[in-house]
Amino acid sequence: MFTIFPAAKIITMNPSRPYATHVAVRDGRILGAGPLSELAGWGEHQIDTRFAGKVLMPGLVEGHSHVSEGVFWRFVYCGYFDRMDPGGHTWPGVKSIEDVLQRLRDAEARLTSPDEPLAGWALDPIYFGTRRVSRQDLDKVSATRPIGVMHASGHILNVNSKALELAGFLRHGINHPGVPLGPDGLPTGELKGPDAMTPVGKHANFDRELQAGDEKGLREFARLCVRKGVTTAADLANLLPGPAVDMMLRVTGEARFPARIVPLRRFQGLTPHELIERARELAALSTDRLRLGIVKIVADGSIQGFSARLRWPGYYNGAPNGLWYVAPEQLRECYRLAVQHGVQIHTHTNGDEATELVLDCIEEALRYGSAPDHRFTFQHCQLADAAQFRRMKALGCCVNLFPNHHFYWGDQHYTTTVGPERAERMNACATALRTGVPLAIHSDAPVTPLGPLFTAWCAVNRRTASGRMLGEHERISVPDALRTITLGAAYTMKLDGEVGSIECGKRADLAVLEDDPETIGAERLKDVRVWGTVQGGRVFAAAEI
Ligand SMILES: [Zn+2]
Repeated sequence: MFTIFPAAKIITMNPSRPYATHVAVRDGRILGAGPLSELAGWGEHQIDTRFAGKVLMPGLVEGHSHVSEGVFWRFVYCGYFDRMDPGGHTWPGVKSIEDVLQRLRDAEARLTSPDEPLAGWALDPIYFGTRRVSRQDLDKVSATRPIGVMHASGHILNVNSKALELAGFLRHGINHPGVPLGPDGLPTGELKGPDAMTPVGKHANFDRELQAGDEKGLREFARLCVRKGVTTAADLANLLPGPAVDMMLRVTGEARFPARIVPLRRFQGLTPHELIERARELAALSTDRLRLGIVKIVADGSIQGFSARLRWPGYYNGAPNGLWYVAPEQLRECYRLAVQHGVQIHTHTNGDEATELVLDCIEEALRYGSAPDHRFTFQHCQLADAAQFRRMKALGCCVNLFPNHHFYWGDQHYTTTVGPERAERMNACATALRTGVPLAIHSDAPVTPLGPLFTAWCAVNRRTASGRMLGEHERISVPDALRTITLGAAYTMKLDGEVGSIECGKRADLAVLEDDPETIGAERLKDVRVWGTVQGGRVFAAAEI
């Protein structure tokens, strides 16, 4: 016995049969997509008409997000734009530093215990002109409890004096590029990069190790996936301590857990040897809904935080070059070992200097050993130029670009960070496709909101928040964008043989849509309404999740 779902339209992404009217599901897998008469040939079946008026696509694949989006929603939302939480409630954006402080004060007033930390997230001072948030600002919210507010980029944390004091940072003589000092010689409260953020952040509820194992956060993240049509999502930088892995195996294994999670082990706190060994251990623990074994390395910081590494001539506003998050010798060793042991690495590079260094490391590693189909993937890789895409192609690399940036920070990239010309080549999706580099696109949630159809809209339209079209020659077509948020992202995680299209033998993962993304119009792609998902043959309605 199996089930046949008729639909108004089924976009399959199967090149041999791109459209279908019915999809048959048995044992969590797709038995076939085609006309009823053909599918009935498989034997005894039932017809389920609940999607008869809907459009079905392969379940959307988010190739770069973080489960911490589900954790952050219990902190105070300090973002500039309105945003929907996992329960479906939309929080209004805050439009000035004073508004940020007021929202924190309101939350502070609701805390009961006197030294309970106060945490906020999604702060983006780039919208507030040149003024930065200082520890003195946050001291006005509370001088007695630790406060931390994470920037939208996730690469900078603002803290108050109490948090600095608890971490032993409120003193003279600190000399670290990630800890800027004020005129008084003491830290300003802005902390850049993991070295600076981790020791202070843990006093303000930002403890990465703890977040990695946050069961409630994982469940909240999965609810958000259903709302956005996502059936497979990467958790791109997790430290994956043993207890967190046990928790993730247990929770994702529950009968009604609605998504497949692909956590990557971040390179932090281990030697390259230990990292590669741990990745191989993790790979052996994989289940259908928890895929382990890929490694994530962060090479530099963020462009709008001026912590990305740029080649000459650097930042448009003259800001000093950004930070290396990992030493080049270590990068080299990681790639060399990954080639040797068949481990896949995804590397965050934002600036083009970071991209160049990683290309050099991969080229060198491949000179010493061969790794057919390694699919080493550049993550963000926002500033890559055409020559760098040609090198990626020659070296067999994939790229996962970040078109949401055009909307959220495109105006700032044009006027301030990289300037007009390089802003137009950022996230060069069309160049990647023309060059033949396998392409995915992503949200980096919680950096920007999870939602592959919104990300596709960004890649197709390249509109900034103010309405400027940024890089008209790098726009891609709607069909290309839809393939990129399904098969494209699946390919970067070596899952394209299992998910990303609706065809015989694949997992029964579907995005159930109220509107047709192919006919709604390129400008309205982001407005396609998501009814919910089918994951492994199990139906999840967003309204009931
Ligand atoms: Zn990320």
